[in-house]
Amino acid sequence: MSMIGQVSVKNNQYKIKGDFHHLELGQPIRLADEGWRLIGITNPRHLTHMHSYGGEALFFEGLSQGKLMATRCDNPKCESKGSIYQPFRIYCPDCLSKMTVIDMTNTAKKTAKIHTFMVCERSGAFSLLDKPIKFINVEFTGVCTILMSYLSVGEPKMGMRVVPIFKKLDPTFTILDLSFVPKGTKADQLPSGFSF
Ligand SMILES: [Zn+2]
Repeated sequence: MSMIGQVSVKNNQYKIKGDFHHLELGQPIRLADEGWRLIGITNPRHLTHMHSYGGEALFFEGLSQGKLMATRCDNPKCESKGSIYQPFRIYCPDCLSKMTVIDMTNTAKKTAKIHTFMVCERSGAFSLLDKPIKFINVEFTGVCTILMSYLSVGEPKMGMRVVPIFKKLDPTFTILDLSFVPKGTKADQLPSGFSF
């Protein structure tokens, strides 16, 4: 039995272990209208893609620890000096200098508000979220951008105060580890693995 691909980095080199491409026997594709004549085969295959997070890795590590990290431009020559960006950006969009990573968890807990929202009854391929998905655009005091996330409890409303929740138990290290719930939601109402 093969092992699903695992990756680590040591001495600045990728070390890979296990199967990164795995083939299985397929099935014939037959034409029902013409006596089930053979017209092809299926080729099932599993691929493991190595997705590097680069400078954004800190952001995803933070979510697994219950922290919402952002970046701030501290370049004294930048017209937008002091601007805070969430979603996390590595370089300042105005002066292109590398920004400072900051912890904005408390700002999110105290000021997060739904700017606008949309409720999707259907989703794209491979979505792991339960439907209907309540996508929300979240604004924070002192942050110059708006974050796209999803509401896990209740119904979204414009201007509604929300608080972040984090999947600290069995994190996926993806953006799905961050979600929001209306302010005042009790800990026992949170989805499995999530906490404040
Ligand atoms: Zn800047």
